[in-house]
Order: sequence, then structure tokens, then C-alpha cells
Amino acid sequence: MSGRPAALFPLFAGLETLPGIGAKTAKAMEALGITRPRDVLFTLPQGVVDRRPVAALREVVPPVICTLEVEVLAHHAARNRSGPTRVAVRDGAGVEFTLVFFHARGDYLQKILPLGAKRLVSGKLELFDGVAQMVHPEHILPPEEAAELPRFEPVYPLTAGVTQKLMAKASEGALARLPELAEWIDPALMAREGWPDWAAALRAAHRPETPGETAPTAPARQRLAYDELFAHQMTLALARRQARHPKGRETKGTGALARKVLASLPFKPTGAQLRASAEIAADMAEARRMNRLLQGDVGAGKTLVAFLALLNAVEAGGQGVLMAPTEILARQHHEGLGALAEAAGVRMAVLTGRDKGRERTQKLADLAEGRIQILLGTHAVFQKDVVFQDLRLVIIDEQHRFGVNQRQELGAKGEMADVLVMTATPIPRSLALAQYGDMDVSLLDEKPPGRQPVQTALVSTARMGEVVAHLQKAVAEGRQAYWVCPLVEESERVDLASAEERFVSLRAALGEGVVGLVHGQLPPAEKDAAMADFVAGRTRVLVATTVIEVGVNVPAASIMVIERAETFGLAQLHQLRGRVGRGAAKSTCLMLYQAPLTAGGERRLAILRDSEDGFRIAEEDLAIRGAGDVIGTAQSGLPRFRIADLEHQAGLMALAQTDARALLLKDPALESPRGAAVRALLWLTEQDRAIRLIEVG
Ligand code: ADP
Ligand code: MG
Repeated sequence: MSGRPAALFPLFAGLETLPGIGAKTAKAMEALGITRPRDVLFTLPQGVVDRRPVAALREVVPPVICTLEVEVLAHHAARNRSGPTRVAVRDGAGVEFTLVFFHARGDYLQKILPLGAKRLVSGKLELFDGVAQMVHPEHILPPEEAAELPRFEPVYPLTAGVTQKLMAKASEGALARLPELAEWIDPALMAREGWPDWAAALRAAHRPETPGETAPTAPARQRLAYDELFAHQMTLALARRQARHPKGRETKGTGALARKVLASLPFKPTGAQLRASAEIAADMAEARRMNRLLQGDVGAGKTLVAFLALLNAVEAGGQGVLMAPTEILARQHHEGLGALAEAAGVRMAVLTGRDKGRERTQKLADLAEGRIQILLGTHAVFQKDVVFQDLRLVIIDEQHRFGVNQRQELGAKGEMADVLVMTATPIPRSLALAQYGDMDVSLLDEKPPGRQPVQTALVSTARMGEVVAHLQKAVAEGRQAYWVCPLVEESERVDLASAEERFVSLRAALGEGVVGLVHGQLPPAEKDAAMADFVAGRTRVLVATTVIEVGVNVPAASIMVIERAETFGLAQLHQLRGRVGRGAAKSTCLMLYQAPLTAGGERRLAILRDSEDGFRIAEEDLAIRGAGDVIGTAQSGLPRFRIADLEHQAGLMALAQTDARALLLKDPALESPRGAAVRALLWLTEQDRAIRLIEVG
């Protein structure tokens, strides 16, 4: 494809090409992620300062930012080097006040504030010893130039060496070179939403005429956010098309193995499990490659759905692999699914980083020759020398940390393999679309019946004694408990120390042999032993760092204690709590916090106390923390948006996805006039990957 359209060149030139921006400012702006005029355009003001002049001082109540026309009465030079210069002025109603300047040089002040002249001054008016004064007004201009002061001055994000004035100047410079671009948004959508065209939207966003124009709901903001989300969704739609290339053959099961397995279960699958299984089976049976996300709350029963999908691959004469994020989980899947594999009569094995030597060699040979039909494991299953005879399905369990690129790399292991990703935690719809928009989605929105609600309580660490006494009593009644120690410090060592310390104190309180300890630093064999002891009920309390967070399933455990709960994310707490309430017994979750809680901290924990609905918790978490924090942006594969705000503009994301997928269906090579305009948008938003993918489609 031809390169970046020439019309965009001025926006991708150096920053110094903008009037008034020198090399030093350009360097400073890098800290804001601004290296080209394009970036200036996409860095929108966060708010406005009201600079509308008031007629007289008495109309405002200090402290306040205000703009007044004054007459200059007198200059009072600084009494010493560090003292201020004071300029006495008088407002239109005859009230006097003072302008204060520190370190004024030479006759600079005489020049900008000549005696007897009228000037418009704008800045923060404060009372000092009962006298009104304005220290270093931000604007001083002759009344005839009043038009130069915007009524609502945009407020940009700043960094050292970059002032509001510089940002305003840079944005004016960039606005002056806006190219004429054909419209890429569907005209019907534009009309329905009342959105301005691209150039008009940028002008409106940078030159707000009312405070409301910097709100996420302002039409110009919406339009620009939509551009960004739409460009992102175009990339995902193109990636989806790429991922769903024809795999050459269909993976069709007979359902015979699934029937055997379901008959062997002590419970009936939920409607949601059956629905998801059917969606997956239908997708695998197609000649296109499956690229699907299975979303379901903790305890919704994703593992069974995954296993049934693996059986499809086996029934079709192929193999399937299920990758878990941790060793413990991989082994637990192996144990938990053992009975089902036996019922189905399929050969299953587990492979992790711990497999070494002869045993590993044997497993690899069994895989290559098809003697192992289902492989469970950690990321070790994707090592180079792991070769399958006929890999038809790749399932990635309990991870939301992979981006689109990484998922595609994993899929590349089996050129022909279908891909199913299972999320550990429900995530809000807008984020799911941002992160998994390249995939199709199956939702497990129903939990197995008969689950007892988990009673959740917030308890100050000051009441640690009571908590331990409660635990003693519960253990005496034969119950089992997790005790989760937090990530107190960055350093794992400190972390560990806190878990070990807690282990020692609980052992002292509850007795030798009753308490186990598991954490990431333990040698593998000890980790296994600690888990096995707890599963078998030999230990009654398991002290753990967050290694147990994902997926561990011990139905007999009915108490979850989380220390320093306020330091965890909501989704993480929800995951941890999901470890209990899996059996018939009434379950409890105690969230210990270090008082005093901040207002925000209290609100967060209260949400968790009051709800067990993972989707609701996720939405609330997003509302409180913002998108970047809900899933750590850098490692999550979630893109950083410059303009779009997923919290307040969530609806736009779904719209963008539908629109992008529809456009690609109508115009696969982006050759129509609108298609060509969209290409320009992709260049403008630097979706280089998308541009490469247009061709391969
Ligand atoms: P998650 O979706 O969190 O991975 P799991 O697959 O670990 O959940 O399932 C949680 C528990 O629920 C397991 O003990 C599993 O055997 C059980 N389970 C799964 N499906 C059902 C069902 N339909 N009815 C009853 N229990 C079920
Ligand atoms: Mg699971």
C-alpha cells in the first residue's frame, strides 16, 4: 500500500515547525507524549478557566480567578532584593487593590503597566491582611487587545518547561495547518449524533466557548473520541478477519464423548454452560478459525465448558491444549479433570516448566505421535520443541494479560488451531471491547444453582485478636480457611516476610500442623505439598500470598481472610473471595483493613461487601478508578487512548465495533470513498498494524 497520505505530512513534521516552538520546548513536550503537531491536536484541554471580565471587584468573592479592567495608579519598588514590587490599581468602580510581582526586572513592569494607563488584568485575586491583591497576573493587556484573551481559556495538561501559553500557542499553530480530509464517519451516524466534521471538532475542542465544551459529552469531544475508538476497532476488526482465516478443515465432534462426560457428572450443566458449549462447537465446526472469548464470573464453571470443547477436538481425531497461568492451576486442572477424562476415555497429560529429562522427552514423543490427546500445562506448552500431531484447539485459561499480538503468536503454534480465551474476571463491556474486540464472545452469565452467598465483612486490623479467635472456633468446628497476605511492598522479600510472620503467629495460635504456607518463592515440591495438604484437609488454614488468586478450587474451604484488603484491586478481591462459597457450607469473607480508610477506599470495599456480581463490581471499579487502572494498561494489551474516556464514553466503543465490522464486510479492501477516508484515519491515528492487515485480507 502507498505510504502516509501527503495531506498528513504537516501534522507529522517536527514540533519546531510550529510558530513559537523552539527546540527546548519541543524537548520538554516529549514528557507529555507530544512529538509532532498531530500529538498537539490530540492533546485536548482538560477544562477551562473563565476569563470573562467582571465590571468591578465587588462582584467577586476572593479567592477567585477573575479578569478586571484597571487603571494603573502607582508603582512601589521592592524594598529589598527578595521583596515584591507592588503596583496600585483601581477598578471601574473606583476600588483600589494591588498587583504583586516578585523578581521584576528593570523597567519591565513600567512598560507593561504604564502609569495612568488602562489595562485588562486576569489572575487569581486573594485577600492578604484584608486587602485584595493579585500576585503575578496571568494576563495583562491593553483594553483594545481584549479580544485576544479567550473568554474561556483552555487548560492543558502540563509538564516542566511547558506552560499553558505554550500549549495554547502550539495548538493554534497546529490548528492553522489542518488538512482537508474526506469524512470517514458514516454520514447517517454523524447526522444522528449531531457531530461536527473532523476539523471543526478539533477547533471546537481547542477553543471552547463554554465550559460544557470540554465535557466528555460535548459533540466535538464525542466525535474525536469516536475517531480514536473507531480506528482502534478497525485494527481489531482487521485482526479478527486475519485470525479467522480459513483453517482448511472443520473440527466436528459427534458429541459422544461429551455425553459420556455429562452423564458421569453429579450435577447438570447450567443453561449458560450448554449455550456456550454449543456456540464453541458450532464455531469449531466451521472452516474458519475460531477466535473466541469465554467470559464468566468466578465459579461460573468455565472449566467444564473448556473440557467439552477439548473433547470436540479429540472426537474429530485431533488434539487440544489448555494453558493455565500458574503451575498450581495447571496441576489442579489435571487433578480435577482426571475423572472426566477417564469417563470419556481420553488420554490427558500435564506439562509444565518442571518437567525435565526422560519424562519430558517421553511426553513430547507421546504428543507428537498423538498418544496424548489433551495436554494441560503452563506456558511451557508453547516451547519450541513441543510438537503436536494434530493440534486443533488452543485454550488459554484465566488470563486477561495478553494483548492482541500475543494472542496471535500463541495461535500461530497451531496454524490451523481454533483459539478460545477464558477470562478470569468479568470486565466492563467497554473494556472488553477495547481489549478483545478482535474476538467473538461467549458469556457464562449464570452460576450453578445452590451456591450459598458469601458473607462479607470489613474488619479493622485493630480487631485482629477477634479474627484469630473466630478462626480458632471455626477450625475447631472442622472448617477450613484461606488467609491471604498482601503485596505490601514492591519487593517480594518483604512480602514474603509478612506471609511468613503471619504463618508463625497463626501456627502459635492454632497449633502445630494445622496451618500451611504457600507462596511464589517456595520450591515446586513444597508448593505442591502445601496445596495437597490443604486440599486433603490435613492443614485447616492456608496462609498464602496472592498465588491462590487465580482459579484454585478447594470446595471444603469456607473462610477467606484477606489482610490489607484496601491495597488490592476490586477485581482481585472478587477473585479471591470466589475461592470460597464453592461447597455446601456457609462461607465467610473477612476483609481486614488498616484504619483509617480513605473515603474512596471505603467506597470500594463497600461495593464488594454489598455485591457478589462480578460484572457489577467491574463496572463500579471502572467508574471509580478509570480504565488504565482496572487492568494495568501496560501489561494488559489495553491500548492507551489520548482522547477517548472509556468510563464516560463507554457507549461509543460498542458503536465503533459494529461500525468497523460492518464497513469491512461491505468494503473488505477499503476501496470505496469512505474506505479511502478510513485509511487516512488509520494513518492519522498510527494504526500501522491495521494498514498492513488491509492488504492480507
Ligand atoms: P470458574 O468459572 O471460576 O473457572 P470452575 O470451572 O472452577 O469455575 O467451577 C467451579 C466449581 O463449580 C467446580 O467445583 C465445578 O466442578 C463446579 N461446577 C461447574 N459447573 C457446575 C454445574 N453446572 N453445577 C454445579 N456445579 C458446577
Ligand atoms: Mg477456572
